[in-house]
Amino acid sequence: CGIVGYIGKRDTAPLLLEGLQRLEYRGYDSAGLAVHSSGSSGGLKSAKTKGRVRDLEERLPKRFSGTVGIAHTRWATHGAPNDVNAHPHLDPDEQVAVVHNGIVDNAAELRAKLTADGVTLVSDTDTEVFSHLIARSEADTLEAKVQEALRHIEGTYGIAVLHAAFPDRIVVARNGSPVVLGIGEKEMFVASDVAALVSHTRQVVTLDDGEMATIKAGDYRTYTTEGSRTSTSPETVEWAA
Ligand code: GLU
Repeated sequence: CGIVGYIGKRDTAPLLLEGLQRLEYRGYDSAGLAVHSSGSSGGLKSAKTKGRVRDLEERLPKRFSGTVGIAHTRWATHGAPNDVNAHPHLDPDEQVAVVHNGIVDNAAELRAKLTADGVTLVSDTDTEVFSHLIARSEADTLEAKVQEALRHIEGTYGIAVLHAAFPDRIVVARNGSPVVLGIGEKEMFVASDVAALVSHTRQVVTLDDGEMATIKAGDYRTYTTEGSRTSTSPETVEWAA
């Protein structure tokens, strides 16, 4: 239902929670977030819960610092609204975290294939297949891993992806579910709705269907799910807050 992401220098959890709150008007049943932990052991950290953004905030572990993160408010389509089905979804090794808006039409088939391959699915969602497919890809770059995973997916998605081995970037993709980038000063935002980012920047790039982006703190690039570069220039949005 709602996606927010941030990469920059600031502590991301408060920014993500604020962004989610700005999407509350859309309605949702669960909320969650994942960050690249800036703690000594590093790696991805995530927290999620059925309920409101406020409930997520209350449940957030004390040490949840990091400057790269993604967050989600869920409107359940596959699987009941509960803590496990809330996004982000991670693979068993917690290398990959995914938030997703939309519906994977061939989720049942993909879940069955993954199960046959020995993967234990922990949720009842269509979304969880993304994290396993990306984690299992043997491609070298995060972009190529996501592209390989997307070739198996039929349906609609706006996704944002973190990978523990690629802490300098967030990869996003769009097919039938909106994704906008917000261009800041040495920081970048991503969201499913400009409402989540206009308090930080008015410079936005709206992705097309079949388009992906890699955002880093200082720059971004857009390309198709097949890997060819696309040219985009930021537009200035007017917004009466
Ligand atoms: N289909 C996904 C789910 O049920 C995403 C729903 C949404 O767009 O929030 O978890």
